[in-house]
Amino acid sequence: MAYQRTKYPPWSWSSSRKSTFRECRRKYYYNYYLAHNGWEKDAGELSKKAYRLKNLTGIHLLLGSAVHEVAEYTCKILAGGGKLPEEKLLIDKIRYLLNQAWKDSKALAKDPSPWMENPKQYLMLYEFYYGYGISESIIERIRKKMRDSTANLLISRSINEIASKGYEVVFAENMDTFELYGTPVYAIPDLVLKRPDGKWIVIDWKTGKEAVGHPAQINVYCMYLSKKKGVPPEEIKGRVEYLLTGNASDVEVSRDTFTEAETDIMKSIDEMKESLLDPDKNIPKEMSEYPLTEHRKLCRWCSFYELCEDEL
Ligand code: SF4
Repeated sequence: MAYQRTKYPPWSWSSSRKSTFRECRRKYYYNYYLAHNGWEKDAGELSKKAYRLKNLTGIHLLLGSAVHEVAEYTCKILAGGGKLPEEKLLIDKIRYLLNQAWKDSKALAKDPSPWMENPKQYLMLYEFYYGYGISESIIERIRKKMRDSTANLLISRSINEIASKGYEVVFAENMDTFELYGTPVYAIPDLVLKRPDGKWIVIDWKTGKEAVGHPAQINVYCMYLSKKKGVPPEEIKGRVEYLLTGNASDVEVSRDTFTEAETDIMKSIDEMKESLLDPDKNIPKEMSEYPLTEHRKLCRWCSFYELCEDEL
């Protein structure tokens, strides 16, 4: 569909939107409202800045994205009948992405830079943007995470299944949203497998720690299959693959867990809509109505720190 500029952003719900809303209302406002249209040449300076900062990433997040990329690459190779890639090849790919981002960020963290005009086209690490740098101990932690995640990926249950049991790989690229009482709900898992017995497995790779919200997130993805493809919940299995530890955690999927997930989404939608001036048109209130988080320890590592600095 052709791009059409809109004064206010389209309304939708996602698990990450819910997390941002709970974490910090001001961050939610910057991310989902102020940054809207910040890519337009004639946008206000504050919107442009919010949009730029929204596109910053951190070294740990970048590593997570790079591991997801090699996981997708590995699944595609196996799904196409190829051999399991060597660990070294995957590590080289991750290293290349991290080194590229490192070099670009160091070069672009100067004003003026092409990143300022086109933040989506470059990778900018907030460690360099804010001048914190990346210490040797962080580099060592990143190296360890990279090695552990790659090794665990290659021996993970999901990769084993694709490699040895003739499971059909359904990439989630074409998945997007399903509608829940008029709200588009984003549901894009990392991987979907179809077992030889016809059952579906919805999988998410995680490169961080285990968290209580992950099963609910998987259930949202499973609801997509149910609502858009008509797959009954009994035919769907959920799984989180924790690549740091190698633990594959099964997630319960049933009509009851769908009801729980739906109730949770509706509660979250109500909370978000209460924060709006006009919920039907998704018009936010004034910025001052979105308070800064009480947990100020998070702020130094927040991409939007520059916008809050004077108020902190
Ligand atoms: S810097 Fe702190 S208060 Fe400001 S948006 Fe980020 S987390 Fe919220």
